[in-house]
Amino acid sequence: MAKRLTIMGATGSVGRSALSVVAHANASEDEPAFVVEALSANTDADGLANLAIKHGARCAAIADPAKYADLKERLAGTGIAAMAGSDALIELAQAPVDRVVAAIVGIAGLQSTYSAVAAGNSVALANKESMVCAGPLLKQLSRKTGAAIVPTDSEHNAMFQVLERPEDVERLILTASGGPFLDTPLSKLAHVTPDEACAHPNWSMGRKISVDSATFMNKALELIEAAYLFEFPEDRIDVLVHPQSIIHSLVAYRDGSTLAQLGTPDMQTPIAHALSWPDRRTQTSVKRLNLLDFQQLSFLPVDDERFPAIGLARQALAEGPAASVAMNCANEVAVSAFLAGQCRFSDISLIVEKALGLDIAQASRAGEELSLSDVIALDQEGRHRCVELIAGLGTHSRSEAQ
Ligand code: NDP
Repeated sequence: MAKRLTIMGATGSVGRSALSVVAHANASEDEPAFVVEALSANTDADGLANLAIKHGARCAAIADPAKYADLKERLAGTGIAAMAGSDALIELAQAPVDRVVAAIVGIAGLQSTYSAVAAGNSVALANKESMVCAGPLLKQLSRKTGAAIVPTDSEHNAMFQVLERPEDVERLILTASGGPFLDTPLSKLAHVTPDEACAHPNWSMGRKISVDSATFMNKALELIEAAYLFEFPEDRIDVLVHPQSIIHSLVAYRDGSTLAQLGTPDMQTPIAHALSWPDRRTQTSVKRLNLLDFQQLSFLPVDDERFPAIGLARQALAEGPAASVAMNCANEVAVSAFLAGQCRFSDISLIVEKALGLDIAQASRAGEELSLSDVIALDQEGRHRCVELIAGLGTHSRSEAQ
């Protein structure tokens, strides 16, 4: 039986990779492996309509209501239903399917991820920010409804693939490519441009996660994601720089074995695994790994002076779930400001650090659980405060960023 899919954030990097996986898998089998039920986007009505038509979706929803007329016009006569607004995205996420791919970027993906899990839909989770901001809540909800949350972020998918007996795990080891600035002199980091920050050496991704990789904030968010997703203490999660991005993460067991998942750096592999799970039937066109292509695989410790993000994530986890929300929203606001030329690259970590000192970050204690409305309220309050923090950076920082 073909698996029915809904893809939230279909027009993005992960959404398009998921649709490539689906198209290739369907072309490789006598019977289609997947049926695309519904797709969503934020503002890209044209891109959404093209994908819905190409992949035979039943329905397409655009978050921005101002784009509804465009979407409706592009889908006229196709039989594909057009919907718009945030409620439409919730409706899509709740409609019964075999897998909802959560590929919206940022905390904007939280409501639909939550709605999918609450409705009992199993979720292929790429949208790490929803686990960072509401991890304990989502885990509890998934236990209640029985909806699986299948890790799709490549590192978490890698650990999930080799996580045989969680009770026997000694350490989780997250690998990081190091991003584009691994060897850039520290004095130059303040002056790097958005395009330089988005030029990732190994992965092709959306702009927000590309900047996150360059600051190491991506790995910091992944550390929080791993702690919540696998319900594992932060002091037993290590981060290791592995510039070739071949080993996507590792799990060390109490008997001395360390298991790893390897592959070429291509999101189609974790997506195919997350769509197929618990089997591995999905055939992909991903370039196969030939270890003879690599003279060596190297590993380095994280340079905490260059990349303070990992230490900030550990601090957030120790403080409680409100601190993770504060950290995530500060990062989202600061990355947008950096991409818009309103602050420097090095200001991003500074803003996150300052946000962790705000009272909103102290609004919960470790082990406490926040409700969905708590998380949304903290995020909104945090955004206002971080905009003020950026304004307070002074004209020097802003003019240098332009
Ligand atoms: P992109 O920026 O490429 O795509 C984001 C998608 O989300 C687009 O479809 C966009 O629609 C939609 N979107 C953006 N804002 C909103 C909103 N407010 N409401 C509804 N939809 C919205 O992001 P990526 O694909 O790079 O990343 C998606 C998620 O996956 C992120 O959480 C990222 O951390 C995670 N991830 C990404 C990886 C990658 O390789 N890219 C790897 C591992 C994890 P529109 O096109 O209309 O703007």
